[in-house]
Amino acid sequence: MLKIQNLQARIEEAEILKGIDLEMGQGEVHAIMGPNGSGKSTLAKILAGDESYAVTGGGVALEGEDLLAMEPEERARAGLFMGFQYPVEIPGVSNSYFLKAAVNAARQARGEAEIDPVSFLKLARERAQWVQLDESLLNRPVNAGFSGGEKKRNEIFHMAMLEPRLAILDETDSGLDIDALRAVADGVNRMRSPERSFLIITHYQRLLNYIVPDHVHVMVNGRIVRSGGKELAEELERTGYALFDDEEAA
Ligand code: ADP
Ligand code: MG
Ligand code: MG
Repeated sequence: MLKIQNLQARIEEAEILKGIDLEMGQGEVHAIMGPNGSGKSTLAKILAGDESYAVTGGGVALEGEDLLAMEPEERARAGLFMGFQYPVEIPGVSNSYFLKAAVNAARQARGEAEIDPVSFLKLARERAQWVQLDESLLNRPVNAGFSGGEKKRNEIFHMAMLEPRLAILDETDSGLDIDALRAVADGVNRMRSPERSFLIITHYQRLLNYIVPDHVHVMVNGRIVRSGGKELAEELERTGYALFDDEEAA
């Protein structure tokens, strides 16, 4: 599904990613954990097509295609979904209007027919429930005036509507109370399938109590310093990241 090879990137003079290797198979859930400033969001933004970072080495393939050569829109058409720590507000465009256009673009990219308005509404109501997103938020401008928790639920709701092949979620859990955390996790878990992969980026282990990953990677100072199974997240919860700083230094 995704193959990252020796990915190196910088912004201005600062070298941020120092050779990332990561391979994800279809249907797998991978988590990247790491201390603040280790480069997790940088990796997510590069995968999304943010041009403020210069890729100085290595590459990324999405289902065998050169991801870094694609425009952000092409990445979305190829089935990539990005959920960010700070979801953007789109004043003046209603959530359901925005989403219907996005859903139809995704369907078109998959060679499917447009969704009719009745089916769209039915699907939207069903999937809003998955994340306990209040239905009234469908008619409000995208994320405008939404609380932190509502924005994160809305991100996962959008993901559930778009049915991506690969979803990358950057700190979707940060700042969430336990109910919102569970709602977000429920949305992700309902979307898990043998055809769909997830890359979950998080600083804290607690989201991974609800979304149990197949693989966990620890990123420190622009490198993946350790990979393992879900028990690695539990180990981190006990030891913190200091251990890995030392490992990386060595
Ligand atoms: P994480 O998501 O793991 O907390 P980031 O990818 O946000 O880490 O940041 C990694 C490093 O890159 C940090 O040291 C950060 O200060 C630096 N960095 C990120 N974005 C920029 C930027 N636009 N300009 C300068 N430095 C940046
Ligand atoms: Mg950060
Ligand atoms: Mg970050």
